[in-house]
Amino acid sequence: MGLRLTVFAAIALLAAGAVRAAEAPATLYRHATLIDGTGGPSRPGMSVLVEGERIKAVAPDAGLAAPAGATVVDLTGKFLAPGLIDSHEHLATPPNRHAAEANMRRDLYGGVTAIRDMADDLRSVGELARESRAAEVPAPDIYYAALMAGPSFFVDPRTHAANFGVEPGKAPWMQSIDAKTDLRNAVTLAKGTSATAIKIYANLPGDLVKKITAEAHRQGMAVWAHTTVYPATAVDVLAARVDVVSHTCGLGHAVAGTPATYQARTPMDPTPFLGADNPVIARLYDTMKAQGTILDATVSIYAEQDRARAANPKLKPALCSGAMAAALTKQAWRAGVPITTGTDWQAPWDDPWPTVSHEFAALAKLGMSPAEILHSATEVGARAAGQAADMGTVAPGKLANLIVLTRDPTADIENLKSLELTIKRGRAYARSAFKPLAKGDIEDDE
Ligand SMILES: [Zn+2]
Repeated sequence: MGLRLTVFAAIALLAAGAVRAAEAPATLYRHATLIDGTGGPSRPGMSVLVEGERIKAVAPDAGLAAPAGATVVDLTGKFLAPGLIDSHEHLATPPNRHAAEANMRRDLYGGVTAIRDMADDLRSVGELARESRAAEVPAPDIYYAALMAGPSFFVDPRTHAANFGVEPGKAPWMQSIDAKTDLRNAVTLAKGTSATAIKIYANLPGDLVKKITAEAHRQGMAVWAHTTVYPATAVDVLAARVDVVSHTCGLGHAVAGTPATYQARTPMDPTPFLGADNPVIARLYDTMKAQGTILDATVSIYAEQDRARAANPKLKPALCSGAMAAALTKQAWRAGVPITTGTDWQAPWDDPWPTVSHEFAALAKLGMSPAEILHSATEVGARAAGQAADMGTVAPGKLANLIVLTRDPTADIENLKSLELTIKRGRAYARSAFKPLAKGDIEDDE
């Protein structure tokens, strides 16, 4: 009985702490130039009032007084923008807590306040997401996907790495699907992992992509798919009305031909994409624009693969060259397709900035303006993660996910590296407190 009382007393104390946190004094950020994430013009002389983990008010300086007890932070000469979102990471294939925490720390202290985790061992990702949400570790919020693929995909070594102790294809977070699968049950199992979305990965025909998408939407889950699912084509994937498609490169199959399986892919000839806009791709982009399908382009990884191959010619040729992926992404941007900033790779350990900074640079190189890139990294990223109601713009009621910069990021996207402060759910993380990664903290090719 004594032990029980002790436990209850401890819980009561914790509960009191939680109440105090909820009533935390407000913080008023004053005199900022505000870039609100909507893609509209920057507004000087703005104040943002944060209470607990949410934004309470956004107004011109003169219209917002500091409530009693509020901390006032003077941002004269500084820029305030929404936290950044990396729409494509993998934190646990295989699970490696040390590497995940190092990556997440570099992300958060580099201005990234949310990520999409695009399928992994969700037993690990779920715990990382909980710890991040509770601020037990410095990390972005994590919104993750449970994978579905055809049975023939599950020879892939990554499915073994992400399913330790479970037969690949049989876990709720990575399910093998065929025409006999009870999809209602399969989606419910996936939902039980607390995933935000189903990721439709590979080796499924168009009719199953369509059925999975319809059932996921019926159960309130988003669907994040590869651009081509083999044998399902890009046209099939878009016709299924998935919410987001990943990897601009895969759209090339609409011209080059779609192999029957993921494993049968061969490098594509970039020529049809490098000159004027490709008319076949233009039709896909018309459909995406009409439906609001978001493109998770992951353009920087292809240039990275080119670099890796130049250094090591024995590496297998990549599906797309950096130039081809850039051309396809450029066409998407010019067509007005909503594009997110996703990476799908890890910058080396000695890079002090999040990997997504390379995606920003790649998008700038193909012509996107800094303001457009910021919009992609914030409002569009939030929509892709299914979190538009809670993040992506600086507006009353949204989470206080913000970055403070000393130089204007709409003048040059590299100015994101003038970061002073990341604020996630109201909690501030000073860039000056960032503990850089050490060699061996994450796996890389050095
Ligand atoms: Zn990926």
